Amino acid sequence: MKYISTRGKAPAMNFEEVLLAGLASDGGLYVPETLPTFSKEEIASWVGLPYNELAYNVIKPFVDDCVGDADLKQMIDETYAGFNHIAVAPMKELGTNEWILELFHGPTLAFKDFALQLLGRLMDYALEKRGEHLVIMGATSGDTGSAAIEGCCHSKHLDIFILHPHNRVSEVQRRQMTTVIKDNVYNIALEGNFDDCQQMVKDSFANQDFLKGMKLGAVNSINWARIMSQIVYYFSASLAIGGPEREVSFSVPTGNFGDIFAGYLAKQMGLPIKQLVVATNRNDILHRVISGNDMSKGDLVHTLSPSMDIMVSSNFERMLFDVYGKDGAAIDDLMARFSKESVELDSDRWDKVRELFDSCAVDDDATCETIKQVYAETEYLLDPHTAIGVKAARECNRDKSVPMITLATAHPVKFPEPVVKAGLESPQLPAHMVDLFEREEKLDVLDNDLNTVQQFIASHVHTE
Ligand SMILES: *Cc1c(COP(=O)(O)O)cnc(C)c1O
Repeated sequence: MKYISTRGKAPAMNFEEVLLAGLASDGGLYVPETLPTFSKEEIASWVGLPYNELAYNVIKPFVDDCVGDADLKQMIDETYAGFNHIAVAPMKELGTNEWILELFHGPTLAFKDFALQLLGRLMDYALEKRGEHLVIMGATSGDTGSAAIEGCCHSKHLDIFILHPHNRVSEVQRRQMTTVIKDNVYNIALEGNFDDCQQMVKDSFANQDFLKGMKLGAVNSINWARIMSQIVYYFSASLAIGGPEREVSFSVPTGNFGDIFAGYLAKQMGLPIKQLVVATNRNDILHRVISGNDMSKGDLVHTLSPSMDIMVSSNFERMLFDVYGKDGAAIDDLMARFSKESVELDSDRWDKVRELFDSCAVDDDATCETIKQVYAETEYLLDPHTAIGVKAARECNRDKSVPMITLATAHPVKFPEPVVKAGLESPQLPAHMVDLFEREEKLDVLDNDLNTVQQFIASHVHTE
């Protein structure tokens, strides 16, 4: 399978190259040139498969000859054997045709484990084959950092440096990162805010001279392999409740448009999906584009759902590329204008976007209210991101006869503040993490200075 850039100018690549590259050289994102599709009969033949076997069937066409069949199978088996629930992505019934897809049974209790546990293994495999070493650098306000560290810490050919704003992430989130004591894992607590961290990562990707010939790899959702891994659970959820014979709908709490984009791909690949609901918090650019063709950056606000506090949703570009008929020049022009000013989509393209997606923005008060209401109805405790998904599902549902599945993206213990605000008791850490507050921590506090950070990284990478 060939991968092409959404901006049309970077060279096409194979899976292995895309896996290690991150952003395309023209500033675009890599997408498959043509998407694999599955017939209804083929999908129906997967009913009852364990998660790892289903994952193999869905992922296989994307990697084709870059990874041997037996190796791919083994990496997928190991990835999902490390989850703390036998079903990997279990479904919970909230009410009539109202479902929750629990994606928080991985090692760091958020859905990012689904992709990053596999990504670390795939990268290590490719690097071993090539005899190369890669330096992972990423910024985090919480979830991405811990999931990336857990995903990469066992890799022989990777060093990982994660920047977080010093004293500005929750204690659970910090400890999930800093208690992984491995000599290829570095937590940099930057004397600055999240934007400073992100800027430092961007500047380092743009000019990698400080690494003296080594290369940086990306673990955020610009990396295609992350999106690919997330397509699987849309299939597993549907098959669990009557798919593909029966249509289902999904509501997806999203910030970077990564998770919802995976759902869109599942639909394009042949899974019968009725509605895809984009659920955002007050950082609502996605909702404004979909509902009103207003693609303008607002000021970023901090909310009770911090993992969705994002204003520029990078994966939205991947969807627009499809909607614009894979016209890279048109996307290049649109994104160049968007970096400077508000833009509108061409009206026929916007109609297409509205056909594909419904959307809803949910503020902090409504988030807490939903946590409270669902607990009163069912004694089921939602994390704030998931609560936004449930609220959006209830607001946007156009056909109550079709099951509506909300993706539960994190365990409520990671975000206790809104739970307590909703008047409920703070949830308990699961068994494998009860000693989190006693574990040893390792982190380096560094000045908010690009040169200091780059020197630190250059002096700690493992050259082989
Ligand atoms: C990362 C994250 C999201 C948003 O995911 P996208 O890739 O932006 O769609 C939602 N909820 C939680 C808990 C997250 O960690």
